[in-house]
Amino acid sequence: MTRNYHTHTFRCHHAAGTEKEYVEEALKNGLTLLGFSDHSPYIFPGDYYSKFRMFPEQTADYYRTLGLLREEYQGRLDIRIGFEMEYYPKQFRQTLEFMAEQEQTLPSGEKAGLQYLILGQHFIGNEYDSREYSGMPALSEKHLGRYVENVIGGLETGCFSCIAHPDLINFIGSKKVYKKHMSELCECAKAHRVPLEINLLGLHTKRNYPNPLFWDIVKETGNEVILGCDAHTVHDAGSPELIHEGEDFAAHWGFSLIDELRLIDPLSYIK
Ligand SMILES: [Zn+2]
Ligand SMILES: [Zn+2]
Repeated sequence: MTRNYHTHTFRCHHAAGTEKEYVEEALKNGLTLLGFSDHSPYIFPGDYYSKFRMFPEQTADYYRTLGLLREEYQGRLDIRIGFEMEYYPKQFRQTLEFMAEQEQTLPSGEKAGLQYLILGQHFIGNEYDSREYSGMPALSEKHLGRYVENVIGGLETGCFSCIAHPDLINFIGSKKVYKKHMSELCECAKAHRVPLEINLLGLHTKRNYPNPLFWDIVKETGNEVILGCDAHTVHDAGSPELIHEGEDFAAHWGFSLIDELRLIDPLSYIK
């Protein structure tokens, strides 16, 4: 693994470290590409304000900071500007429009703006109207079905370059029911040629993901698979320990990992 597309920063209010610190660590660990995918700003109606993500007013500075670092480290590290974003059907388009408007022009005249999105469906529905965390242990088939519906909705926009922790959903009911719904997710990702991420943070901290049941389905479906650090601390940006764990996990299923994502321009959706 020489490229990591899943990196957070202090801007999401629950990760630590500046962009530059992550860049330095990635270089130290021998990465050739570092993609920043902090929790995206989201534009919500009314007075709902999401606090685990970047605030909308932080977006311009995020773009500008990363654009300047991209110039500073050119030739040493390929830096990409992205977000980890949920697909909330009601708010998606206006949030993309906001992300496009925030594009910055650097002193060099170069533009710094959104280059890619990874789909991380942390909540089901539209967040502000239901506030149902995907990773909450749940017996309800409806909860599972709605998670899959959101992810498929996201895939169908054609905006996402990868699905982060596709197995975040924590369904504790029948394996048969789990397989039925998650197979749909895998088939849809395959049809759209969107790779699935083995989440190294979840693996290392023994969360409910990566879920072995899910990766059995992935094996059967034949999806493309990539590792993602999901770095919330500087230490995790390309950490050899994390990468080894991920490679061992992938080897257990016989996956041949991809290292590079085909980055899709999400803003073509609103052009
Ligand atoms: Zn996530
Ligand atoms: Zn993440």
